[in-house]
Amino acid sequence: MESPTIVSLNHTSAVTESATENNQGQNADQNAALLSATSSVVSSRSWTIEDSEDLYRIKGWGEPYFAINAVGNITVSPQGDRGGSLDLKEVVEGLKLRDFQLPLLIRFSEILEDRLERINACFAKAIARYSYKGVYQGVFPVKCNQQRHIVEDLVRFGQAYQFGLEAGTKPELMIALASLSTPGALIICNGYKDESYIETAMLGQRLGQKPIIVLEQLEEVDVAITTAKRLGIQPNLGIRAKLAAKGSGRWGTSAGDRAKFGLTIPEIITVVEKLKAVDMIESLQLLHFHIGSQVNAISVIKEAMREASQIYVELVSLGAPMGYLDVGGGLGVDYDGSKTSSQGSKNYSVQNYANDVVAYVKDACVAREVPMPTLVSESGRAIASHQSVLIFDVLGTSEATPEDPTPYQDGEHNLIRELWDVYTSVDADNYQEAFTDAIAFKKEAASLFNLNYLRLTERARIERLYWGCCKKIVSLLPQQDYVPEELEHLEKSMASIYYLNLSLFKAALDTWAIGQLFPIMPIHRLNEEPTQRATLADLTCDSDGKVDRFIGPKGAKDVLELHALQEGDSYYLGMFLVGAYQETLGNLHNLFGSINTVHIHLASKAKAQQGYTIEHVVRGNTTDEVLKQVQYDPKDMLEQIRRRSEQALQKGQITIEEARKLMDNYKAGMDRYTYLTEV
Ligand SMILES: *Cc1c(COP(=O)(O)O)cnc(C)c1O
Repeated sequence: MESPTIVSLNHTSAVTESATENNQGQNADQNAALLSATSSVVSSRSWTIEDSEDLYRIKGWGEPYFAINAVGNITVSPQGDRGGSLDLKEVVEGLKLRDFQLPLLIRFSEILEDRLERINACFAKAIARYSYKGVYQGVFPVKCNQQRHIVEDLVRFGQAYQFGLEAGTKPELMIALASLSTPGALIICNGYKDESYIETAMLGQRLGQKPIIVLEQLEEVDVAITTAKRLGIQPNLGIRAKLAAKGSGRWGTSAGDRAKFGLTIPEIITVVEKLKAVDMIESLQLLHFHIGSQVNAISVIKEAMREASQIYVELVSLGAPMGYLDVGGGLGVDYDGSKTSSQGSKNYSVQNYANDVVAYVKDACVAREVPMPTLVSESGRAIASHQSVLIFDVLGTSEATPEDPTPYQDGEHNLIRELWDVYTSVDADNYQEAFTDAIAFKKEAASLFNLNYLRLTERARIERLYWGCCKKIVSLLPQQDYVPEELEHLEKSMASIYYLNLSLFKAALDTWAIGQLFPIMPIHRLNEEPTQRATLADLTCDSDGKVDRFIGPKGAKDVLELHALQEGDSYYLGMFLVGAYQETLGNLHNLFGSINTVHIHLASKAKAQQGYTIEHVVRGNTTDEVLKQVQYDPKDMLEQIRRRSEQALQKGQITIEEARKLMDNYKAGMDRYTYLTEV
């Protein structure tokens, strides 16, 4: 595995507010100058950052952490409106100066802290509002992001809230036992359990931890009973219920989660009876359910809460002491910024969620005069997503749209004149007709060519004119309420391909695996109109290594608006909300290794500067590390090349200088980042 180099750099960035303001002023002047110079020619008004905000929907998915400043760069406000902000492009360039090459995963520690505080604040507010007689004590599901720095940060940020951890496997339990030090914080033990998992969890109690073993399979009860008797420990046990409440959305139809895990109502009764029979009912403290991840509709949560609250009060009346109700994960993230129950969104806020959890449990308890339990939730996605931003650069583009055609000249083929007329007359009223005509002329040109009536250069002229017409037509489509079917795919077929210095398998697995849409947008030049329509392709030669669906007004769109590349300038894109699940899923693929990761911390306000410090650094894999993971020995490989060079020298196929250069490149390549770097 990667050997993380962890360094702590202290840095106060050159980003100061005054510098930013200067730039803004300058830019506004330039814009004004540009505007007055061109306003007579350009019919549309000039592009503003508000246009970029709408286009990329940044307010929908980004608030309160991500916004666009007056220079047209993305800013990150890790503490929302409570703290300072950083210019993301300046951060990236500062990191590049320190030799952190792209692609780069940047984690903002304060965003993680803010998410944790937010969820706790929402529950506190709901508890006060409904006069709930109990507390909230959340846990973080380790599987959502197992990185040590993140788990350690969460434990630290969560101390004030007695925030704990959830483990779904033995390794995660080991992480939780070693990392959690907050007195009274819970370790919820889920997942398939063998005897050693259960034994380890029970022994954790001896360390002063509070592990709760959640029984998910009937067989686990017997193992838990015998292990507890053998160790002489009174364990904390919970039950995972398989709810009947039918859901909606992605998980609702598959229902795989609920089919696989949890106990049915008859099984729950069996567990209670078994525990009573061995005098261990005192151990039963928690009821758990998990309705799946990214729940899109609040109605689903309400229904689950109604059923689970009822099961809870029933368990109390059956004689279990209980005390905890754990509502699992599922709290959604608004990836497309639409605030709807569409797949990539959710139609409720964290506050709505907390309100419903609190209100339903309270009602059920009051009705049956049962003490209100401590509320536990296992939100992973909602806590971990926002902190991480993946930054990558564009290596080049394939221009699908050729340059604009040159005017018809006297004496050229009649078809060229006719198509030129179509080209010059395309407008919002006739574009459909123009499209039909352009297709007809292009077809005719092809058949004339086959019959030897048209030269190759003339056919090239005609095809260029055809694409020119298409380009004009596509530019008119966004203003149309209704786009005819035959034109729907025109935009995609006209799109440029932007090649990314990235492996999607490595960096954002879900994009590839389950078609999850993450917000992707340029992190600079947002005061400029993005004139290109593009799809994205990564460095790997897999045909799947591409992105051709993006968040959009109707759930998704086929092309992403981007800026034309400028000679000599880097063009940076960001993929946002990738802190949950993405970072740990990717396996070694195409021998692109793990990517450089930095944790950025806002510099303290006392220093009177809006700077940042780099807290942790995890260097991405070098080529020789990646090769070793697939059992190559870089030394042997080098020796192979040396031997071959020697043989080639003997035969006079290579010069000494060339052989030397090859060896040098080969050696240096071993120590380098697996991605394309600027040397
Ligand atoms: C995955 C999982 C979670 C986390 O779900 P989120 O939707 O990320 O909040 C919580 N509990 C269990 C049991 C899980 O399997």
